[in-house]
Amino acid sequence: MISPRPRFPLSAPVTAPKKGSLTTKQALLTLLIALLISSVAGSIELLSHATNMRQEVQLRVAQQLAIVNGAAAEAAFQLNPDLAHQIAYGLFSDDEVAWVSIRDDFGRALAEFNTPEQAESTWLSQRLFGDILHHQTALLYYMGSDMPEAIVGEIELVLSEGYLTQQFLARIYAVVGFSILEAFILSILVIAFFHVFITRPLLKVHAAIAQTDPNRPGHWPKPALRGHLHDELGHLVDSLDHLLKAFQQGLEQRDQLHHLSNMDGLTGVANRRHFDEFYKQHWYLAQQTQQPLSVIFIDIDNFKKFNDHYGHAMGDETLRAVANALNQCIDPTRDLLARYGGEEFVCVLPGQDHDDAVDVAHCLREAVLSLAIPHAFSSAHSDLTVSMGVASMSAGVLVSAEALIEHADQHLYRAKRLGRNRVETRKRPA
Ligand code: GH3
Ligand code: MG
Ligand code: MG
Repeated sequence: MISPRPRFPLSAPVTAPKKGSLTTKQALLTLLIALLISSVAGSIELLSHATNMRQEVQLRVAQQLAIVNGAAAEAAFQLNPDLAHQIAYGLFSDDEVAWVSIRDDFGRALAEFNTPEQAESTWLSQRLFGDILHHQTALLYYMGSDMPEAIVGEIELVLSEGYLTQQFLARIYAVVGFSILEAFILSILVIAFFHVFITRPLLKVHAAIAQTDPNRPGHWPKPALRGHLHDELGHLVDSLDHLLKAFQQGLEQRDQLHHLSNMDGLTGVANRRHFDEFYKQHWYLAQQTQQPLSVIFIDIDNFKKFNDHYGHAMGDETLRAVANALNQCIDPTRDLLARYGGEEFVCVLPGQDHDDAVDVAHCLREAVLSLAIPHAFSSAHSDLTVSMGVASMSAGVLVSAEALIEHADQHLYRAKRLGRNRVETRKRPA
């Protein structure tokens, strides 16, 4: 029996995917990009908010001063502190005003309000509002249609730097918080999308490759990627499929060639080349494992005469039948039957001691005889027969590979001399 070619190790060398590692990388990258974009967008928004807030504050203060100008001028003209007090208090009740003063045209204060404690000025508050805190307007009194308006005093107002900064920061916290939330939601959506449409299909492909038997790559569990038939992932799977199928074909051709190179073309049993390889390998193994090893040489009796009288074609047919019959007596998973050359065969029996081998040899002889192929010109029998020489190497006894073969050959020669159709082996000790 021709032994199969050594196979690839069954455990596929594909490492198991670290679950979710691709998703984690994608998630981190997406989050980083989203945070970068949102921080750039947030900074632009921050600048625009600061500009808007400054404009709003300036406009509001200007409007408030314009509204109270007439009444405050009246108070200054009449030197009426109660009225001035009321107007100043009205302005001061706004939290963003830190200090307000209404003065007459001599600079004497008619009313003045001041926040007792002001928050400390910071670099940020100075940069944002430092230049728009102080407001001063002349109080214009209407003297009649034919007279120009008279300046009767002034109103001065200072905004609370701390309060404005607080208002600004409160807005910014909301903006930044919203941007971060936006970035997170966007990231989660992008991650989910990539996981469903890219990572999961890729993991499927990886799992299919990991499950592939390297000895049968063409029979890999090709994954069905729904929705990816015509995109890059679908093409990747198709290319992989073609590649593995081509690889499978290559393996089959290799196995076929290997089988042919080890097989005898006429009889279908192993050839001499394979015998040499198998015998050498098992002789070493027997030495190492201290196991017995037996060899049987088989030669068809008077085969020249058979050929001469029944024809060469019949001779070939008979060789095939004999090989087939011999094969019935051995265990093809363990033993080897080979055509040694011409009408000679050889059996290698690993692990079989002398007695086992003799039993096998008798089986072989009877198997050929039971074919009942007439051989009218044989010197041994009316049917075709074989002669055999058996040689064994006992467990733990060193006999060289060449010597073992030679012994079997010598025993075969003796079988021929002693009349053929027989099994000869070492003489039993007396
Ligand atoms: P012995 O009993 O002593 O073995 O006699 P024998 O005639 O069998 O031995 P010998 O070596 O004289 O002849 C072997 C013959 O086997 C010679 C040849 O015609 C025949 N033979 C060898 N190979 C083939 C083959 O492939 N096909 C056929 N048909 N005959 C073959
Ligand atoms: Mg011969
Ligand atoms: Mg012969």
